[in-house]
Amino acid sequence: MELQCGPYTLEGYSRSTVETYVKVQELNISFDVGKCPMNLVHIPQVFITHFHGDHSLGMTYYIAHRNLAKLETGKIYIPAAAEKDAHQLIRCQAMLEGARRDYELIPVEPGMEVTFRRNTVMRMFATDHRIPSVGYQVVETRYKLKPEFHDLPQQELVQLKKSGVEIVQPTQLPLMTYVGDSTIKVFDWHPEIMDSEVLITECTFLTDEHYEEAAKRKHIHIKDLVPWLPHIRSRYIVLMHFSMRYTHQEIRYWVNHWIPEEYRERVLLLL
Ligand SMILES: [Zn+2]
Ligand SMILES: [Zn+2]
Repeated sequence: MELQCGPYTLEGYSRSTVETYVKVQELNISFDVGKCPMNLVHIPQVFITHFHGDHSLGMTYYIAHRNLAKLETGKIYIPAAAEKDAHQLIRCQAMLEGARRDYELIPVEPGMEVTFRRNTVMRMFATDHRIPSVGYQVVETRYKLKPEFHDLPQQELVQLKKSGVEIVQPTQLPLMTYVGDSTIKVFDWHPEIMDSEVLITECTFLTDEHYEEAAKRKHIHIKDLVPWLPHIRSRYIVLMHFSMRYTHQEIRYWVNHWIPEEYRERVLLLL
């Protein structure tokens, strides 16, 4: 499905245990690859949160199809702890097909950041899940005129710049955050994610009967998300990764049930 979040078009699918990927058209990236539908193959950079199959198994398909189409090697970011096994997985699959693969895995760890496009970095943060996992935050640096130069005419500004005076200062804008699989602890550990313009987070479980299940499987229950809502400054809060136990109708019903009315307008569902 497609969701419009301000300037960003999210194209994706997300249901727990089936498949999760979120392509951001304007940034030309994908968070997770799911089973890698054909419309992900041309995306040059993918950011995998963890190696549960529903988030990552399409990686081999992504590599194979880019090779087939003679596209340049895509950049696949993965949790560093999974690097060795991920190489093995790719090599075994290539061996089974009797094929040669060109690919690039970039291991990442919480606390790291990589520049993935002009003036824009991806920051990795730890999430709390059953296997090594990371979340991703897109931060753009914009350069704004320093306040002391606001009233100067254009010509003078040009002169100052020419003479080597630094007339601009950088500001950092957290554009988007993607929390793959995690418990609610991620909000406590990384309050900065709540400043993102778009916050995409898993919200697997919705009903009281599944409250313990959420803790056991290390996922978020919507009941635990509600107390965080007053602290979330994001214009768009995208919930995803709902359990297959619920129909679309039930998901809408329970989200409405738990999310207080004042927040509902900012909450979108990625199904
Ligand atoms: Zn998952
Ligand atoms: Zn998982």
